[in-house]
Amino acid sequence: MPNATEQPTDTYDFVLVGGGSAGCVLAARLTEDPATRVLLLEAGAPVEALPEAVATPPAWPSLAATEASWGERTEPQGPDGGLVALPRGKGLGGSSAINAMVFARGHRSSYDAWAGLGAPGWSFDDLLPWFRRTETALGGGTGRGTDGPLIVGPAAAPNDVLLALLDGAVSTGHRRALDISGGLEEGFAPVDLNIVDGRRQSAADAYLTPVLGRPNLRVVTGARAHRLLLDADRCTGVEYTVDGRGHTARAARETVLTAGTLGSAHLLLSSGIGPADELRATGVEVRHALPGVGRNLHDHPRANLVHRTRREVPAARHNHGEIIGLLRGPGAGDGGPDLQLIFIDLALPNPVAPVENGFSVGVSPMRPASRGTLRLASADPFAPPVIDPRYFTEEQDVRAVLSGIATARAIVASGALSSWGAEEVAPGPAVTSAADLAGYARRFFGSYCHPVGTCAMGEHENAVVDPALRVRGLTGLRIADASVLPSIPSNNTNATVYALAERAAALLRDAS
Ligand SMILES: Cc1cc2nc3c(=O)[nH]c(=O)nc-3n(C[C@H](O)[C@H](O)[C@H](O)COP(=O)(O)OP(=O)(O)OC[C@H]3O[C@@H](n4cnc5c(N)ncnc54)[C@H](O)[C@@H]3O)c2cc1C
Repeated sequence: MPNATEQPTDTYDFVLVGGGSAGCVLAARLTEDPATRVLLLEAGAPVEALPEAVATPPAWPSLAATEASWGERTEPQGPDGGLVALPRGKGLGGSSAINAMVFARGHRSSYDAWAGLGAPGWSFDDLLPWFRRTETALGGGTGRGTDGPLIVGPAAAPNDVLLALLDGAVSTGHRRALDISGGLEEGFAPVDLNIVDGRRQSAADAYLTPVLGRPNLRVVTGARAHRLLLDADRCTGVEYTVDGRGHTARAARETVLTAGTLGSAHLLLSSGIGPADELRATGVEVRHALPGVGRNLHDHPRANLVHRTRREVPAARHNHGEIIGLLRGPGAGDGGPDLQLIFIDLALPNPVAPVENGFSVGVSPMRPASRGTLRLASADPFAPPVIDPRYFTEEQDVRAVLSGIATARAIVASGALSSWGAEEVAPGPAVTSAADLAGYARRFFGSYCHPVGTCAMGEHENAVVDPALRVRGLTGLRIADASVLPSIPSNNTNATVYALAERAAALLRDAS
């Protein structure tokens, strides 16, 4: 354990822990006031030291295996007990620097449900000004922003095979949406992407890099926070290491965790803030009992139907997944869409046979009921956490996937795909019974990489932060990242995190 006192202590107004999607937004917005001193700590590398593939959209799938990802796997999941890769970004930009660049709000129903989960004040209409503030939406659309830092829009020329699938969706009775990224529509359409002039635009690119010259902002990379400093019930700052040497940063106003769903919960637990029995059992002194920390972990699992085509699929120029559908399966009830289909211009690795030329359709339950945990492996704050999302432990998540597979098969079988000579390889045409399809989904899914909820916001006993994002029972400490979302929005998560961070910046400014 490094000696945290060997370096001088620095004091700032705000100390931000984690330079990902949320951390970059907060660093930029809080330092707009020249009198506000901000320290941003990031465990990973600066932008210029990240792999070149970060900037090259079609190369994104390679990034999970580089130093730009933490590289964790879950506990055994599913009937065969496989360890599921759960990448998360490491470096300025965080997960926005390695993600698939889909930029979409959840359907409004997913935010409107949060009040019923004990988190009032975060409905779609409450969030709308903050969504708008993040973006310049080139495709237009109702309620979209026109002058935010993220320049977003659908691919100008999606891959031909994906356009054929879109035609197939419409010809089999699905709605052609105008703006599937805006949170108001259902159906199929090209989705907005975080790609500008052929290059990825990460949170660092959009928010942080333009303000790095501000004298009131200090960014330290390679800085791993390992313990929050508590003075009775006040958080006064954080201990971190750089190159194995310990440092202390003090926050005169607030410390803000933006370390992500895995990182923020991990840091709280390592600091003795969490479920008391669990902390004691791991040998960590309980500094503040908070039963919800690390609970309510959930994510979107995604199963893929993989196809071989006789016609050659054109080389990818964008993010491979330029068109999505947001749908209601039979179990959706009144709660809004519960299923996403994503059309992918790659034949993904699959358990049946290697495919050189083809496409895939990803099927993901958007309102998963399964809930899991993040726990400490040991009292060593540098040991990776134990991650157990418990994917597909609730039958309704499997049922949603089955309805999505049926929809995908009908689309691929439509006349719109006839010139492509498409043949389903995985799970394969012989796999038709609900039990066999469920078995395929449970064994061969992957994470869609949207974990949320380990520090859920709310006013109930298991809430970790209140609706103003303050850690319950403490002062001087807030959390403002994907970990506070009470449930996953019904789409990819990044746009929601950006909006949350914009709102968090305003909450922090107004608290002075
Ligand atoms: C492979 C992949 C693909 C995805 N695809 C999409 C997509 O196409 N569209 C979409 O909307 N969403 C996608 N997501 C999800 C989306 O990117 C995330 O939900 C979002 O970026 C989360 O933002 P965050 O600020 O909560 O965390 P992050 O962006 O992950 O940032 C957390 C940061 O904190 C740092 N950190 C963690 N612990 C510490 C510590 N102890 N000390 C210092 N720093 C620390 C991390 O290194 C990281 O930089 C994807 C994610 C991944 C990983």
